[in-house]
Amino acid sequence: MRNTEKIWQLIDARKDAYEALSDRIWETPEIAYGEFRSVAEHRAMLEQEGFRITENLAGIPTAVMGEAGDGGPVIAILGEYDALPGLSQIAGIAEPKEAVAGGHGHGCGHNMLGSAALLAATAVKNHLAAQGIEGRVRYYGCPAEEGGAAKTFMVRAGHFDDVDIAITWHPSATNRVDDAMSLANTRVDFTFRGRASHAAAAPHLGRSALDAVELMNVGVNYLREHMPSDARIHYAMIDGGGVAPNVVQARATVRYVIRARELPGMRALIERVKNVAKGAAMMTETAVDTTVVSAVSNLLGNTPLEEAMQRHLEHLGPPPFDAADRKYAAEIQATLTAEDIASAYARVGMAPRRDAPLCDFIVPLGTKGAPMMASTDVGDVSWVVPTVQARVATHAIGTPGHSWQITAQGKSGQAKKGLVHAAKVMAGVAADALADPTLIVRAKTDHKARTEVTPYDCPLPADATPPIQPRPTVA
Ligand SMILES: [Zn+2]
Repeated sequence: MRNTEKIWQLIDARKDAYEALSDRIWETPEIAYGEFRSVAEHRAMLEQEGFRITENLAGIPTAVMGEAGDGGPVIAILGEYDALPGLSQIAGIAEPKEAVAGGHGHGCGHNMLGSAALLAATAVKNHLAAQGIEGRVRYYGCPAEEGGAAKTFMVRAGHFDDVDIAITWHPSATNRVDDAMSLANTRVDFTFRGRASHAAAAPHLGRSALDAVELMNVGVNYLREHMPSDARIHYAMIDGGGVAPNVVQARATVRYVIRARELPGMRALIERVKNVAKGAAMMTETAVDTTVVSAVSNLLGNTPLEEAMQRHLEHLGPPPFDAADRKYAAEIQATLTAEDIASAYARVGMAPRRDAPLCDFIVPLGTKGAPMMASTDVGDVSWVVPTVQARVATHAIGTPGHSWQITAQGKSGQAKKGLVHAAKVMAGVAADALADPTLIVRAKTDHKARTEVTPYDCPLPADATPPIQPRPTVA
């Protein structure tokens, strides 16, 4: 029996406990840097499995790392467990219905992401012990992927310095090696400060910070025409200056996300947005400060690791979805538009099909599709360690990212089968790297070639710190 089949048996032997872990994380959705119960669940699992535990990575109380094995190469498997605000949803139904009014929800499937990564790490640990192989496996429990860039802070703190390769995955509509296309991004808060006054009795004495925010947004909307077409800028008003129209707003904050294909382009675009903010401040006689909340780099691919991952995907085939999974996925598809479904197929370079609500194929390596213009903090890990990511089907084809439909499907049969499948794909790549040291050498040579000309330059300003949340007190 080949090593990969043995490691897949180790996954099957432990899968029930990790499907249950995924369900428990789904049931306690916590958002960026507030994942106290979720990290406690992951920590407890690491302890139960016998990993050596390191807490508070980069000073973040909701980050955890477990290591097992001795000597040899260090293989990192990355997990996440943060939820999204406002995506509370009852599981297993095909209509939008909040479980908790205004509550959070696992609308990006990170309940599965972390559980599968920890399952893969456990199987690699058991494989190292069973085979008597030298080598170490680490599970990195990474919080705040959504808007928090925890991995960037963890990279900056040196937690990946001695790692040889990193492996991760993301729940998806299709089965494929991730095409390593993501945008670098930075979240910046622009806070304007003016002067309050009675808006009717003394408007001439007021200087409105809210006016400055509005003018900045107009200015940035004009800037859009003159920026690279693959850059992205979006904003949210996080402090409109108060709810009383009869008081001139003395302080207002708008949060911008500025994304570009690569870091130098992003840095240039940030300066242009800052100039617009300065112009708005000048027009309104207010002052503006900028604070970087988070920043991530674009993803780097790694050909040897991608080829290894593709072999496992093809060997395994698609997840073993059954009729009940397809029935539920078809009900979810009935809530989508034809455009949602077509864009999921366009992403993998295929014409849309209506006969398969769940992905029953493996996308060939190197398929050219419409790139996904999102961002992930896995990008920063990929700049310091050769990194590979799988995408494994856990939801109906066409399900939009960050949607109630993803939360709804988070405990379904397709979610659980995808979770176990992803763990097998990741553990298979780790088993290859342990069995054949030349894979790590080739991965490092590929990585060096990609970073030689433009080495990693952490996108976080030196004074940026993770926005750690207070641990909730138990009443
Ligand atoms: Zn995600």
